[in-house]
Amino acid sequence: MKTILFLMLTLWFTPPENKGPVQLYAEKSELEVRLYADNEGPCPYTVVLDVTVRNMNIDGNYPKRIVVPANSKKVLVSTMRGRKNRTWKYSYGYSYFKGDYRNNWHNEAYIYNLPFEEGKSYTLSQGYNGKFTHRGKEALDFSMPEGTKICAAREGVVVEVKEDSRRGCPRESCKKYGNYITIYHADGSFGEYYHLEKNGAKVKVGDRVEKGEVIGYSGNTGMSSGPHLHFMVYFESEDDKNTVKTQFWTSETTHQYLREGEKYTAVHKK
Ligand SMILES: [Zn+2]
Repeated sequence: MKTILFLMLTLWFTPPENKGPVQLYAEKSELEVRLYADNEGPCPYTVVLDVTVRNMNIDGNYPKRIVVPANSKKVLVSTMRGRKNRTWKYSYGYSYFKGDYRNNWHNEAYIYNLPFEEGKSYTLSQGYNGKFTHRGKEALDFSMPEGTKICAAREGVVVEVKEDSRRGCPRESCKKYGNYITIYHADGSFGEYYHLEKNGAKVKVGDRVEKGEVIGYSGNTGMSSGPHLHFMVYFESEDDKNTVKTQFWTSETTHQYLREGEKYTAVHKK
């Protein structure tokens, strides 16, 4: 019975194939092929494009990286010109990641709010580069009961929301079931709020959120060994999320990098 239930749940909760916010397409004339990109997402994306041609001239070196601005249509990303009286051919492939690759400098002077309600206190159960699941990652885990209100640590634009899962377990196999919200910040970094409960997002993609605003509810989804909030700030690249440490307000007058095992009380500042 348990096995059958597991299979049913697996089928039921597998999210549909995500088409993603960036699409590339070609427009051809007699001697020329132009590739364009649409980005329907609310933050810029970096497209990594490679082309293979025969008897065509291309506009520079490939693979190349091109930034496609937020909410944009028909951005020219490549021009390939066929040689006269020759049979020409082309093919292309691409991948993309969130953000502008030229902009990966985190504003260290920015002081974040703790990502929960003012006056509430929670323990940092795992800190930066923690040996449980944060090896090589500047991420933070706050131990808190499911359903705890989560607040934006920094203002920005919501770029990703997943809230359709109720599954969680301490194993790698559960990773894909994690619910989360991602917020794009003014300096080009992204804030990630992970393991939210099912339907635990109060915001949707494209919303602008203020610092301290309630954005959702914590949970225990994804690869998780107990109810907590995982928070981290990162810049994306071809193959990784490059995380950075951030300072938080811990009283009206003090801010600091957080330490594992300590309990912190949120003080919300603008
Ligand atoms: Zn974590």
